[in-house]
Amino acid sequence: VALRVALVSTGHEVLRGDTLNTNAAWLARRATEAGATVVWATTVGDAVGDIEAALRDAIGRADEVLVTGGLGPTEDDRTRAALARAAGVPVAHDDRAWAIVLARFARAGRVPDERQRPQAALPVGSEPLGNEFGTAPGVRLAVGSTTVALLPGPPREMRAMFEAEVLPRWRADGRIEEAAARVVRTAGLPESDLASRIDDLMRAPEPVVGTHPDEGEVAVRVLARGKGAGARADGVRDEVARRLGAHVVSFEEEERVEHAVVRALLARGEVVATAESVTGGLVARMLVRVAGASGAFRGGFVAYSDAWKHGVLGVEDALLLEHGAVSEPVALAMAHAARERGGCAWGVATTGVAGPGPGMRGVAEGTVFVAVCGHDVETARRHVFGPPRLAVQRRAAVAALDLLRRELASASSPPAPREG
Ligand code: ATP
Ligand code: MG
Repeated sequence: VALRVALVSTGHEVLRGDTLNTNAAWLARRATEAGATVVWATTVGDAVGDIEAALRDAIGRADEVLVTGGLGPTEDDRTRAALARAAGVPVAHDDRAWAIVLARFARAGRVPDERQRPQAALPVGSEPLGNEFGTAPGVRLAVGSTTVALLPGPPREMRAMFEAEVLPRWRADGRIEEAAARVVRTAGLPESDLASRIDDLMRAPEPVVGTHPDEGEVAVRVLARGKGAGARADGVRDEVARRLGAHVVSFEEEERVEHAVVRALLARGEVVATAESVTGGLVARMLVRVAGASGAFRGGFVAYSDAWKHGVLGVEDALLLEHGAVSEPVALAMAHAARERGGCAWGVATTGVAGPGPGMRGVAEGTVFVAVCGHDVETARRHVFGPPRLAVQRRAAVAALDLLRRELASASSPPAPREG
């Protein structure tokens, strides 16, 4: 049986909705991927009695309880006291914890004052955990057959402490199953179409296969557990990729469509320029998120008005009049203009109606044309994306980059010598 984990998130700001509970989501994902099973998750405020009650409940349900928040030095930081009450032990000053606080302050060239001391007041019998990015030590305490870990609230501190102090102990104790997580990142297929191509895999009990929309892309995640997990996860990942074909962007969490585009351009020694209307520079913004983009991206035009489409990009007035700005011929003309004015191998363009409501000439909300041109390529696609406005813009940018990615993948090798 896999290690059963319960999560307890603390803090009134989480209960009020002011702080999005990313800690619980992150811990749930990491613990699951590592081979544990999250069986329970609760959120409570800062009151010591409430935290104590949540702890008692979680301790009764799990082998490991992970608590986040309330480790700081101030009055409202009460998880240490709550854990002591739940365990039935007193709180006492802990020299090892105080040494962690001192070391942290020494690195900053400072000396802690009395106000920092509550951070070293631990339930008797517990072990302090190092905090790479903050002052508050974490806490680990066995309560009966359950182990409770108190982690800080700030996500960076919490994540580093989990990775450095909690996960290695789970592994060392041999208490987690073999597990293997894989991802197939895709673009260009709506989630429901994608799911229908792999629904038999999604219904199988193991490995677990799920689809997750992610900023205009869809990630398919595969999680295998138990003996031989790695080989089984690989097998299902490969089958998912086979069925999704050219929609597959990458097999890495951090490798999105913009990364794939930049990588392909760098490999070819070619450069792209952008001409954007509906996306207002988002395509350019996504490209420059990628380290090394300067070798692949020359620059971008944001030609939002017809006046700029004509005056700056040179799109003919007749074309704008005949077809309207949201049309395939205008998208193609914009892509050509970007390519020519940029003096580079590739041009990419977007034009559309972000909404709410229809655009000029009654063009429906969400209608988008994306276009790509290269040395022997000229292609455009029409899409209709659902609201709201920002989702249309995001999807349009992903669609434009995905079209470029696919053209790059099928293009012949570059005809000209490398560009500068
Ligand atoms: P500090 O020493 O900074 O007070 P702490 O360990 O006492 O840290 P909290 O005071 O509970 O933690 O929270 C500090 C900050 O951490 C919050 O303001 C919030 O920005 C972030 N935080 C707390 N809980 C969560 C959570 N569940 N998800 C995401 N962020 C959180
Ligand atoms: Mg605090």
